[in-house]
Amino acid sequence: MIDRGRLATLLARERVTYADRNPRSAAAYAHAEHLFGRTPMTWMNKTAAGFPLYLGTARGAHVTDLDGHDYADFSLGDTAAMAGHSPIPVVEAVHRRLAALGGATAMLPTEDAEVVGADLARRFGLPLWSFALTATDANRWAVRLLRAVTGRPRILVNSYCYHGSVDETLIVVGPDGRPRARAGNVGAPVDVLATSRVAEFNDVDGLARELAHGDVAAVLMEPALTNVGIVTPEIGYLAKVRELTQRYGTYLINDETHTFSEGPGGATRAWELQPDVVTIGKAIGGGLPSAAYGMTSELADALATRSDLDLVDAGGVGGTLAGNALSMAATRATLTSVLTDAAFEHMISMARAFAAGVRLVLDRHGLSWSVCQLGARVEYRFVSPAPRNGTQSAAAADPELEDYLHVYMANRGVLLTPFHNMALMCPETTLDDVSRHQESFDAAIKELVG
Ligand code: PMP
Repeated sequence: MIDRGRLATLLARERVTYADRNPRSAAAYAHAEHLFGRTPMTWMNKTAAGFPLYLGTARGAHVTDLDGHDYADFSLGDTAAMAGHSPIPVVEAVHRRLAALGGATAMLPTEDAEVVGADLARRFGLPLWSFALTATDANRWAVRLLRAVTGRPRILVNSYCYHGSVDETLIVVGPDGRPRARAGNVGAPVDVLATSRVAEFNDVDGLARELAHGDVAAVLMEPALTNVGIVTPEIGYLAKVRELTQRYGTYLINDETHTFSEGPGGATRAWELQPDVVTIGKAIGGGLPSAAYGMTSELADALATRSDLDLVDAGGVGGTLAGNALSMAATRATLTSVLTDAAFEHMISMARAFAAGVRLVLDRHGLSWSVCQLGARVEYRFVSPAPRNGTQSAAAADPELEDYLHVYMANRGVLLTPFHNMALMCPETTLDDVSRHQESFDAAIKELVG
Protein backbone atom coordinates (compact mmCIF):
# COMPACT_ATOMS: atom_id res chain seq x y z
CA MET A 1 0.00 0.00 0.00
CA ILE A 2 2.78 2.46 0.92
CA ASP A 3 5.18 3.21 -1.95
CA ARG A 4 8.54 3.09 -0.15
CA GLY A 5 10.32 5.16 -2.78
CA ARG A 6 7.74 7.89 -2.50
CA LEU A 7 7.97 7.75 1.28
CA ALA A 8 11.78 8.15 1.16
CA THR A 9 11.51 11.12 -1.23
CA LEU A 10 8.89 12.86 0.86
CA LEU A 11 10.78 12.25 4.10
CA ALA A 12 13.97 13.71 2.58
CA ARG A 13 12.01 16.76 1.39
CA GLU A 14 10.45 17.31 4.82
CA ARG A 15 13.83 17.01 6.54
CA VAL A 16 15.22 19.75 4.30
CA THR A 17 12.23 21.95 5.13
CA TYR A 18 12.77 21.24 8.84
CA ALA A 19 16.45 22.20 8.65
CA ASP A 20 15.59 25.41 6.75
CA ARG A 21 12.82 26.32 9.17
CA ASN A 22 14.82 25.83 12.34
CA PRO A 23 18.23 27.52 12.10
CA ARG A 24 18.39 28.51 15.77
CA SER A 25 17.60 25.01 17.02
CA ALA A 26 20.14 23.63 14.55
CA ALA A 27 22.79 26.06 15.81
CA ALA A 28 22.07 25.31 19.47
CA TYR A 29 22.47 21.62 18.77
CA ALA A 30 25.67 22.15 16.79
CA HIS A 31 27.14 24.20 19.65
CA ALA A 32 26.32 21.71 22.40
CA GLU A 33 29.84 20.37 22.70
CA HIS A 34 29.80 19.54 26.39
CA LEU A 35 26.76 17.32 26.42
CA PHE A 36 27.02 13.59 25.96
CA GLY A 37 25.04 12.99 22.78
CA ARG A 38 24.69 16.81 22.36
CA THR A 39 21.51 16.83 24.45
CA PRO A 40 20.78 17.01 28.20
CA MET A 41 19.60 13.40 27.97
CA THR A 42 20.57 11.00 25.21
CA TRP A 43 16.97 10.07 24.36
CA MET A 44 16.44 13.64 23.11
CA ASN A 45 18.24 12.49 19.99
CA LYS A 46 15.10 10.52 19.18
CA THR A 47 13.98 12.98 16.57
CA ALA A 48 12.63 12.46 13.10
CA ALA A 49 14.81 15.14 11.57
CA GLY A 50 18.44 14.96 12.67
CA PHE A 51 18.32 17.48 15.51
CA PRO A 52 15.74 18.33 18.15
CA LEU A 53 13.64 21.47 18.31
CA TYR A 54 14.74 23.60 21.26
CA LEU A 55 12.09 24.80 23.68
CA GLY A 56 11.31 28.51 23.70
CA THR A 57 8.10 29.06 25.64
CA ALA A 58 5.21 26.82 26.66
CA ARG A 59 1.73 27.53 27.95
CA GLY A 60 -1.27 25.23 28.11
CA ALA A 61 -1.42 23.01 25.02
CA HIS A 62 1.10 25.06 23.02
CA VAL A 63 4.85 25.39 22.86
CA THR A 64 7.09 27.62 20.78
CA ASP A 65 10.57 26.69 19.65
CA LEU A 66 13.71 28.84 19.56
CA ASP A 67 12.88 29.94 16.03
CA GLY A 68 9.53 31.23 17.21
CA HIS A 69 7.20 28.64 15.64
CA ASP A 70 4.03 27.78 17.49
CA TYR A 71 3.03 24.13 17.97
CA ALA A 72 -0.11 22.39 19.14
CA ASP A 73 1.65 20.07 21.56
CA PHE A 74 0.17 16.57 21.73
CA SER A 75 3.41 15.20 23.12
CA LEU A 76 2.98 17.05 26.42
CA GLY A 77 6.30 15.93 27.82
CA ASP A 78 5.34 12.28 27.26
CA THR A 79 2.65 12.78 29.95
CA ALA A 80 4.75 14.85 32.38
CA ALA A 81 2.86 17.91 31.07
CA MET A 82 -0.55 16.25 30.85
CA ALA A 83 -1.83 19.07 33.10
CA GLY A 84 -0.79 21.48 30.32
CA HIS A 85 2.35 23.58 30.34
CA SER A 86 2.74 25.79 33.39
CA PRO A 87 -0.88 25.65 34.59
CA ILE A 88 -1.59 28.72 36.68
CA PRO A 89 -2.50 26.92 39.97
CA VAL A 90 0.82 25.06 39.80
CA VAL A 91 2.77 28.21 38.97
CA GLU A 92 1.15 29.94 41.94
CA ALA A 93 1.74 27.02 44.32
CA VAL A 94 5.37 26.71 43.25
CA HIS A 95 5.90 30.46 43.54
CA ARG A 96 4.32 30.48 46.97
CA ARG A 97 6.48 27.60 48.20
CA LEU A 98 9.71 28.66 46.58
CA ALA A 99 9.54 32.45 46.91
CA ALA A 100 6.87 33.54 49.38
CA LEU A 101 7.30 30.84 52.03
CA GLY A 102 10.75 29.71 50.90
CA GLY A 103 12.18 26.21 51.13
CA ALA A 104 12.12 23.83 48.23
CA THR A 105 13.59 21.02 50.28
CA ALA A 106 14.41 20.95 53.98
CA MET A 107 14.37 17.41 55.42
CA LEU A 108 11.03 18.38 56.96
CA PRO A 109 7.58 17.26 55.79
CA THR A 110 4.91 19.72 54.69
CA GLU A 111 1.16 19.41 55.14
CA ASP A 112 0.71 19.28 51.37
CA ALA A 113 1.79 15.63 51.33
CA GLU A 114 -1.21 14.44 53.35
CA VAL A 115 -3.58 16.34 51.06
CA VAL A 116 -1.94 14.64 48.08
CA GLY A 117 -2.09 11.23 49.78
CA ALA A 118 -5.79 11.68 50.51
CA ASP A 119 -6.49 12.76 46.94
CA LEU A 120 -4.61 9.78 45.48
CA ALA A 121 -6.46 7.48 47.89
CA ARG A 122 -9.78 8.88 46.65
CA ARG A 123 -8.76 8.42 43.04
CA PHE A 124 -7.13 4.99 43.13
CA GLY A 125 -8.79 3.35 46.14
CA LEU A 126 -5.55 2.57 47.99
CA PRO A 127 -5.25 4.15 51.45
CA LEU A 128 -1.50 4.66 52.02
CA TRP A 129 0.98 6.54 49.84
CA SER A 130 4.66 7.32 49.66
CA PHE A 131 6.55 9.52 47.22
CA ALA A 132 9.34 9.51 44.68
CA LEU A 133 10.41 11.95 41.98
CA THR A 134 10.18 9.62 38.99
CA ALA A 135 7.92 6.78 38.02
CA THR A 136 11.05 4.68 37.64
CA ASP A 137 11.85 5.11 41.32
CA ALA A 138 8.24 4.57 42.38
CA ASN A 139 8.35 1.23 40.54
CA ARG A 140 11.80 0.36 41.82
CA TRP A 141 10.85 0.96 45.43
CA ALA A 142 7.51 -0.82 45.14
CA VAL A 143 9.28 -3.84 43.69
CA ARG A 144 11.84 -3.86 46.51
CA LEU A 145 9.11 -3.69 49.15
CA LEU A 146 7.21 -6.57 47.59
CA ARG A 147 10.30 -8.75 47.22
CA ALA A 148 11.04 -8.06 50.88
CA VAL A 149 7.56 -8.82 52.13
CA THR A 150 7.12 -12.03 50.11
CA GLY A 151 10.69 -13.31 50.37
CA ARG A 152 10.39 -14.15 46.65
CA PRO A 153 13.19 -13.19 44.28
CA ARG A 154 11.47 -12.34 41.00
CA ILE A 155 9.02 -9.99 39.42
CA LEU A 156 6.95 -10.57 36.28
CA VAL A 157 6.31 -8.04 33.53
CA ASN A 158 4.70 -8.04 30.09
CA SER A 159 6.81 -8.36 26.98
CA TYR A 160 7.68 -4.93 25.51
CA CYS A 161 6.44 -3.13 28.59
CA TYR A 162 8.11 0.05 29.76
CA HIS A 163 8.25 0.98 33.42
CA GLY A 164 11.30 3.25 33.32
CA SER A 165 14.89 2.14 33.68
CA VAL A 166 14.04 -0.55 36.23
CA ASP A 167 16.57 -3.36 35.74
CA GLU A 168 14.09 -6.17 36.34
CA THR A 169 11.75 -5.00 33.57
CA LEU A 170 14.14 -5.18 30.60
CA ILE A 171 12.99 -8.62 29.52
CA VAL A 172 10.95 -9.79 26.52
CA VAL A 173 9.57 -13.00 25.07
CA GLY A 174 11.95 -13.95 22.26
CA PRO A 175 10.89 -15.28 18.83
CA ASP A 176 11.43 -18.81 20.19
CA GLY A 177 8.86 -18.14 22.93
CA ARG A 178 11.54 -18.08 25.62
CA PRO A 179 12.44 -15.11 27.83
CA ARG A 180 15.47 -13.03 26.93
CA ALA A 181 17.02 -9.67 27.82
CA ARG A 182 15.59 -6.79 25.86
CA ALA A 183 17.89 -5.80 22.98
CA GLY A 184 20.23 -2.96 23.96
CA ASN A 185 19.87 -3.50 27.75
CA VAL A 186 22.76 -1.32 29.00
CA GLY A 187 25.14 -2.70 31.62
CA ALA A 188 22.70 -5.02 33.35
CA PRO A 189 23.85 -5.59 36.98
CA VAL A 190 22.77 -9.23 36.82
CA ASP A 191 21.22 -11.39 34.12
CA VAL A 192 17.58 -10.28 33.91
CA LEU A 193 16.57 -13.94 33.60
CA ALA A 194 17.62 -14.38 37.24
CA THR A 195 15.40 -11.56 38.53
CA SER A 196 12.40 -11.64 36.25
CA ARG A 197 9.76 -13.57 34.42
CA VAL A 198 7.80 -12.36 31.42
CA ALA A 199 4.44 -13.07 29.79
CA GLU A 200 2.74 -11.58 26.78
CA PHE A 201 -0.02 -9.07 27.50
CA ASN A 202 -3.46 -10.72 27.06
CA ASP A 203 -1.94 -14.21 27.51
CA VAL A 204 -3.65 -15.77 30.52
CA ASP A 205 -2.09 -19.21 30.01
CA GLY A 206 1.41 -17.79 29.72
CA LEU A 207 0.90 -15.81 32.91
CA ALA A 208 -0.43 -18.84 34.78
CA ARG A 209 2.52 -20.94 33.61
CA GLU A 210 5.06 -18.37 34.82
CA LEU A 211 3.35 -17.70 38.15
CA ALA A 212 3.15 -21.42 38.88
CA HIS A 213 6.89 -21.41 39.59
CA GLY A 214 5.89 -19.80 42.90
CA ASP A 215 8.85 -17.42 42.95
CA VAL A 216 7.22 -14.21 41.68
CA ALA A 217 6.88 -11.47 44.31
CA ALA A 218 4.87 -9.14 42.09
CA VAL A 219 3.39 -8.66 38.66
CA LEU A 220 4.24 -5.14 37.53
CA MET A 221 2.02 -4.09 34.65
CA GLU A 222 0.18 -1.30 32.92
CA PRO A 223 -3.56 -2.08 32.66
CA ALA A 224 -3.08 -1.30 28.94
CA LEU A 225 0.38 -1.27 27.36
CA THR A 226 1.18 2.28 26.30
CA ASN A 227 4.82 2.32 25.38
CA VAL A 228 4.81 0.12 22.30
CA GLY A 229 1.75 1.70 20.83
CA ILE A 230 -1.35 1.20 22.93
CA VAL A 231 -2.42 -2.40 23.47
CA THR A 232 -5.73 -2.72 25.27
CA PRO A 233 -6.79 -5.61 27.51
CA GLU A 234 -9.20 -8.15 26.07
CA ILE A 235 -12.45 -8.75 27.90
CA GLY A 236 -11.80 -10.72 31.08
CA TYR A 237 -7.99 -10.54 30.88
CA LEU A 238 -7.43 -8.14 33.79
CA ALA A 239 -9.87 -10.07 36.00
CA LYS A 240 -7.88 -13.21 35.23
CA VAL A 241 -4.63 -11.43 36.11
CA ARG A 242 -6.09 -10.54 39.49
CA GLU A 243 -7.40 -14.04 40.05
CA LEU A 244 -4.10 -15.71 39.11
CA THR A 245 -1.94 -13.34 41.16
CA GLN A 246 -4.11 -14.04 44.18
CA ARG A 247 -4.02 -17.79 43.55
CA TYR A 248 -0.22 -17.82 43.43
CA GLY A 249 0.38 -15.39 46.33
CA THR A 250 1.79 -12.72 44.02
CA TYR A 251 1.20 -9.03 44.57
CA LEU A 252 -0.18 -6.94 41.70
CA ILE A 253 1.22 -3.50 40.87
CA ASN A 254 -0.66 -1.29 38.39
CA ASP A 255 1.69 1.26 36.86
CA GLU A 256 -0.74 4.10 36.10
CA THR A 257 1.87 6.58 34.86
CA HIS A 258 0.37 6.62 31.35
CA THR A 259 -2.99 4.89 31.83
CA PHE A 260 -3.87 7.79 34.15
CA SER A 261 -5.18 9.25 30.88
CA GLU A 262 -8.18 6.92 31.18
CA GLY A 263 -9.78 9.04 33.89
CA PRO A 264 -9.29 10.86 37.21
CA GLY A 265 -8.46 7.53 38.92
CA GLY A 266 -6.71 6.05 35.90
CA ALA A 267 -7.67 2.67 34.50
CA THR A 268 -7.74 1.31 38.04
CA ARG A 269 -10.86 3.26 38.89
CA ALA A 270 -12.40 3.40 35.41
CA TRP A 271 -12.19 -0.38 35.02
CA GLU A 272 -12.78 -1.22 38.70
CA LEU A 273 -9.44 -2.94 39.17
CA GLN A 274 -8.13 -3.97 42.56
CA PRO A 275 -4.34 -3.96 42.55
CA ASP A 276 -2.31 -4.21 45.76
CA VAL A 277 -0.11 -1.32 44.70
CA VAL A 278 -0.49 1.58 42.27
CA THR A 279 2.54 3.46 40.99
CA ILE A 280 2.30 6.76 39.19
CA GLY A 281 4.68 9.49 38.08
CA LYS A 282 5.02 12.32 35.62
CA ALA A 283 1.57 13.96 35.24
CA ILE A 284 0.83 14.38 38.94
CA GLY A 285 3.58 17.00 39.40
CA GLY A 286 2.15 19.36 36.79
CA GLY A 287 5.56 19.44 35.08
CA LEU A 288 7.69 19.24 38.22
CA PRO A 289 9.31 15.98 39.32
CA SER A 290 6.82 13.95 41.33
CA ALA A 291 5.79 10.32 41.63
CA ALA A 292 3.99 8.15 44.14
CA TYR A 293 3.17 4.61 45.11
CA GLY A 294 0.09 3.60 47.02
CA MET A 295 -0.60 0.37 48.89
CA THR A 296 -3.25 -1.54 50.78
CA SER A 297 -3.41 -1.44 54.60
CA GLU A 298 -2.66 -5.16 54.63
CA LEU A 299 0.61 -4.59 52.80
CA ALA A 300 1.53 -1.60 54.96
CA ASP A 301 0.86 -3.67 58.10
CA ALA A 302 2.97 -6.55 56.80
CA LEU A 303 5.85 -4.16 56.13
CA ALA A 304 5.47 -2.47 59.52
CA THR A 305 6.04 -5.74 61.37
CA ARG A 306 9.37 -6.29 59.62
CA SER A 307 11.92 -4.72 61.93
CA ASP A 308 14.71 -6.21 59.79
CA LEU A 309 13.85 -3.84 56.92
CA ASP A 310 15.62 -0.49 56.96
CA LEU A 311 12.97 1.89 55.66
CA VAL A 312 14.63 4.89 57.26
CA ASP A 313 18.24 5.00 56.21
CA ALA A 314 20.23 3.05 53.63
CA GLY A 315 17.85 0.13 52.94
CA GLY A 316 17.47 0.85 49.24
CA VAL A 317 14.04 2.51 49.35
CA GLY A 318 13.91 6.29 49.29
CA GLY A 319 15.75 9.40 48.12
CA THR A 320 16.79 12.70 49.67
CA LEU A 321 14.54 14.80 47.45
CA ALA A 322 11.57 12.42 47.33
CA GLY A 323 8.48 14.11 48.74
CA ASN A 324 10.26 17.46 48.93
CA ALA A 325 8.23 20.57 49.74
CA LEU A 326 8.27 21.98 46.21
CA SER A 327 7.28 18.71 44.58
CA MET A 328 4.43 18.26 47.06
CA ALA A 329 3.17 21.82 46.56
CA ALA A 330 3.10 21.31 42.79
CA THR A 331 1.43 17.91 43.10
CA ARG A 332 -1.24 19.22 45.44
CA ALA A 333 -2.09 22.04 43.05
CA THR A 334 -2.09 19.70 40.04
CA LEU A 335 -4.41 17.17 41.61
CA THR A 336 -6.78 19.50 43.42
CA SER A 337 -6.98 22.35 40.87
CA VAL A 338 -5.88 21.18 37.41
CA LEU A 339 -6.40 17.49 36.65
CA THR A 340 -9.86 17.55 38.15
CA ASP A 341 -12.80 15.34 37.19
CA ALA A 342 -14.18 18.16 35.02
CA ALA A 343 -10.82 18.59 33.29
CA PHE A 344 -10.77 14.91 32.42
CA GLU A 345 -14.22 15.18 30.84
CA HIS A 346 -12.92 17.89 28.53
CA MET A 347 -9.65 16.06 27.77
CA ILE A 348 -11.51 12.86 26.93
CA SER A 349 -13.94 14.68 24.65
CA MET A 350 -10.98 16.25 22.81
CA ALA A 351 -9.44 12.79 22.43
CA ARG A 352 -12.71 11.47 21.05
CA ALA A 353 -12.70 14.23 18.42
CA PHE A 354 -9.04 13.55 17.67
CA ALA A 355 -9.65 9.82 17.18
CA ALA A 356 -12.71 10.50 15.00
CA GLY A 357 -10.62 12.83 12.84
CA VAL A 358 -7.90 10.24 12.39
CA ARG A 359 -10.46 7.58 11.43
CA LEU A 360 -12.00 9.93 8.90
CA VAL A 361 -8.63 10.57 7.25
CA LEU A 362 -7.78 6.87 7.20
CA ASP A 363 -11.14 6.01 5.64
CA ARG A 364 -10.83 8.77 3.06
CA HIS A 365 -7.49 7.44 1.90
CA GLY A 366 -8.38 3.77 2.20
CA LEU A 367 -5.78 2.98 4.85
CA SER A 368 -6.58 0.17 7.27
CA TRP A 369 -4.56 1.25 10.29
CA SER A 370 -5.85 0.95 13.83
CA VAL A 371 -6.78 3.83 16.11
CA CYS A 372 -6.95 3.41 19.85
CA GLN A 373 -8.25 5.81 22.48
CA LEU A 374 -7.33 5.49 26.14
CA GLY A 375 -9.32 8.29 27.74
CA ALA A 376 -7.42 11.48 26.99
CA ARG A 377 -4.86 9.69 24.82
CA VAL A 378 -5.03 8.49 21.20
CA GLU A 379 -2.60 6.36 19.23
CA TYR A 380 -2.58 5.17 15.65
CA ARG A 381 -0.73 2.10 14.56
CA PHE A 382 0.09 1.02 11.02
CA VAL A 383 -1.80 -2.30 11.16
CA SER A 384 -5.31 -3.56 11.50
CA PRO A 385 -6.65 -5.28 13.52
CA ALA A 386 -4.89 -3.66 16.46
CA PRO A 387 -2.03 -5.71 17.94
CA ARG A 388 -3.06 -7.77 20.95
CA ASN A 389 0.31 -7.96 22.68
CA GLY A 390 3.61 -6.15 22.91
CA THR A 391 5.51 -8.39 20.53
CA GLN A 392 2.91 -7.95 17.79
CA SER A 393 2.85 -4.22 18.36
CA ALA A 394 6.65 -3.95 18.26
CA ALA A 395 6.59 -5.88 14.98
CA ALA A 396 4.12 -3.35 13.53
CA ALA A 397 6.61 -0.51 13.90
CA ASP A 398 7.63 1.36 10.75
CA PRO A 399 10.30 3.90 11.78
CA GLU A 400 10.53 5.54 8.35
CA LEU A 401 6.80 6.09 8.08
CA GLU A 402 6.70 7.32 11.66
CA ASP A 403 9.54 9.77 11.02
CA TYR A 404 7.74 11.06 7.95
CA LEU A 405 4.54 11.76 9.87
CA HIS A 406 6.40 13.35 12.77
CA VAL A 407 8.55 15.67 10.69
CA TYR A 408 5.72 16.52 8.29
CA MET A 409 3.51 17.57 11.15
CA ALA A 410 6.29 19.36 13.04
CA ASN A 411 6.80 21.46 9.91
CA ARG A 412 3.14 22.41 10.16
CA GLY A 413 2.95 23.19 13.85
CA VAL A 414 1.93 19.86 15.39
CA LEU A 415 3.97 17.78 17.84
CA LEU A 416 3.33 14.10 18.50
CA THR A 417 5.13 12.03 21.13
CA PRO A 418 8.43 10.79 19.74
CA PHE A 419 8.81 6.97 19.76
CA HIS A 420 5.29 6.37 18.43
CA ASN A 421 2.15 8.09 17.12
CA MET A 422 0.76 9.08 20.44
CA ALA A 423 -1.30 12.16 21.12
CA LEU A 424 -2.32 13.34 24.58
CA MET A 425 -4.87 16.02 25.43
CA CYS A 426 -4.48 18.45 28.33
CA PRO A 427 -7.14 20.64 29.99
CA GLU A 428 -6.35 23.48 27.56
CA THR A 429 -6.36 21.45 24.34
CA THR A 430 -8.99 22.89 21.98
CA LEU A 431 -10.89 21.70 18.92
CA ASP A 432 -8.69 24.07 16.90
CA ASP A 433 -5.65 22.12 18.06
CA VAL A 434 -7.36 18.86 17.15
CA SER A 435 -8.25 20.27 13.70
CA ARG A 436 -4.71 21.43 13.16
CA HIS A 437 -3.53 17.86 13.65
CA GLN A 438 -6.25 16.45 11.43
CA GLU A 439 -5.43 18.82 8.59
CA SER A 440 -1.70 18.13 8.61
CA PHE A 441 -2.26 14.39 9.06
CA ASP A 442 -4.64 14.44 6.10
CA ALA A 443 -2.15 16.37 3.98
CA ALA A 444 0.71 14.03 4.93
CA ILE A 445 -1.30 10.94 4.01
CA LYS A 446 -2.64 12.48 0.83
CA GLU A 447 0.86 13.25 -0.43
CA LEU A 448 1.97 9.75 0.51
CA VAL A 449 -0.81 7.67 -1.02
CA GLY A 450 -1.82 10.11 -3.72
N1 PMP B 1 6.09 3.79 33.82
C1 PMP B 1 5.52 4.02 32.63
C2 PMP B 1 4.26 3.33 32.29
C3 PMP B 1 6.12 4.91 31.74
O1 PMP B 1 5.54 5.14 30.56
C4 PMP B 1 7.32 5.55 32.10
C5 PMP B 1 8.03 6.52 31.16
N2 PMP B 1 7.59 6.60 29.89
C6 PMP B 1 7.87 5.28 33.35
C7 PMP B 1 7.23 4.39 34.19
C8 PMP B 1 9.13 5.94 33.79
O2 PMP B 1 8.95 7.28 34.02
P1 PMP B 1 10.21 8.18 34.36
O3 PMP B 1 11.10 8.14 33.14
O4 PMP B 1 9.66 9.54 34.60
O5 PMP B 1 10.87 7.60 35.53
